[in-house]
Amino acid sequence: MQTAEIHRRWLDFFEKRGHTVVPSASLVSDDPSLMFTVAGMVPFVPYLSGLVPAPYPRATSVQKCIRTNDIEEVGKTPRHGTFFQMCGNFSFGDYFKEEAIRFAWELLTTSEDDGGLGFDPKDLWVTVYEDDDEALALWKRHSTLPDERIQRLGKDTNYWSTGQPGPAGPCSEIFYDLGPDAGVDGGPATDDDRYVEIWNLVFMQYQITDVASKTDFTIVGELPNKNIDTGMGLERVAFIKQGVQNMYEIDQVRPVLDRAAELAGKTYGANHEDDVRLRVIADHVRSGLMLIADGVTPSNEGRGYILRRLLRRVILSMRLLGVDGPTFPELFPVSRDAMQAAYPEVAREFEFISRAAYAEEKTFLRTLASGIQILDAAVSGARGAGGEVAGDTAFLLHDTHGFPIELTLEIAEEAGVSVDRSVFATLMQEQRDRAKADAKAKKGQRADLSVYTELRGLGETLFTGYDELNHESRVL
Ligand code: ATP
Ligand code: MG
Ligand code: MG
Ligand code: MG
Repeated sequence: MQTAEIHRRWLDFFEKRGHTVVPSASLVSDDPSLMFTVAGMVPFVPYLSGLVPAPYPRATSVQKCIRTNDIEEVGKTPRHGTFFQMCGNFSFGDYFKEEAIRFAWELLTTSEDDGGLGFDPKDLWVTVYEDDDEALALWKRHSTLPDERIQRLGKDTNYWSTGQPGPAGPCSEIFYDLGPDAGVDGGPATDDDRYVEIWNLVFMQYQITDVASKTDFTIVGELPNKNIDTGMGLERVAFIKQGVQNMYEIDQVRPVLDRAAELAGKTYGANHEDDVRLRVIADHVRSGLMLIADGVTPSNEGRGYILRRLLRRVILSMRLLGVDGPTFPELFPVSRDAMQAAYPEVAREFEFISRAAYAEEKTFLRTLASGIQILDAAVSGARGAGGEVAGDTAFLLHDTHGFPIELTLEIAEEAGVSVDRSVFATLMQEQRDRAKADAKAKKGQRADLSVYTELRGLGETLFTGYDELNHESRVL
């Protein structure tokens, strides 16, 4: 089943059940305190918070999302993209737990011929919050899951709150079992990658206070208007339904991976490190395409900085696969072709998108070339001096020329010299400490977060994203 077909079936299913279909909002969230739209619920926060009356009692959407805090997982797990699409159904004080559970089970297990997603119940597991007897009973009533495939889990995974006084509530998550070859028995409670989380149902049910942490608070009482917020990962369902190994191999992503492999003269599946790089490339090119389509352009701060790091990581990954020249003019049109059915704007805006992306690649290739001159000089010097490139040269290359340590090591190794990694590591740590202190100071200035951000509990995303992207050597 093509990704666009799953997308269509989702909206159809919920529209037939009284939900208003709401188009995806931009990746650039309206709220300045949130860098990107990180979940399907983000555009609905004013209604979920009760501050603005919802114009409809139920809604459904397929929302474009960016999560920079998952960047280190990209290409390594089968299920984490920096860009992905979250299918959501929402109730604003209308239906609650019972319908949310019934809808999810029905859509997942109705056969493909009858308009459903055609999952075999034998492959599904469910988790509920450990004290949520109601959800447990509802799953038993409305699904055919045997008791042992409904697991109770604690607050750390199965409770939604913002970490602030306000609304909160238990979650119930649905997992797909990749099978015995993929990991250990025992269900999602084992936290093994064998079980892929596909859908999260959040039951916003309580008012909480005395919040010491996300898992330590006091329940004041029930909310007058209980809400439903759910999120199903479109790419995760697509990779399972398409019978491929991971979300980078689905119809919307795989063509870019294949083109990158072709340019590098690599066979996908032959070498683990190369495969991870190819998956990162395919993921980040798509994120770049979608971000620029929503008006973000590369720069040194804010959203533009995140975009810049994603694009540069593609260039470096291609370099590490052995391709030195420009590749965006090859990769971006392929990504456009894979995405334009679902998002016609990427074709409409392609002139703008490609101009921004190709210019960034040109600039960065120039920076890399000047860095390589410095490294070449350092390598020649090292040959006569114990065969080691100084740690502060490696750091300068990282800091000023965007060289991840892997690239420096690789070039040095090719020339038969080593690199002083311990001095490099010390300098990196010092830089990290400075960045942390900086972020803390910035956060202090932003103490006055809007109630929206608090409700969302996602304000952290902005800073984690920055912090992690700064550690390019860890990231690559
Ligand atoms: P995981 O535990 O696998 O990281 P999550 O618990 O962080 O997922 P939620 O915040 O519950 O994810 O988001 C709802 C759904 O969105 C998930 O069940 C999943 O299907 C999908 N999803 C979340 N993050 C990603 C991502 N980075 N790439 C693709 N799909 C995602
Ligand atoms: Mg996650
Ligand atoms: Mg999870
Ligand atoms: Mg989840």
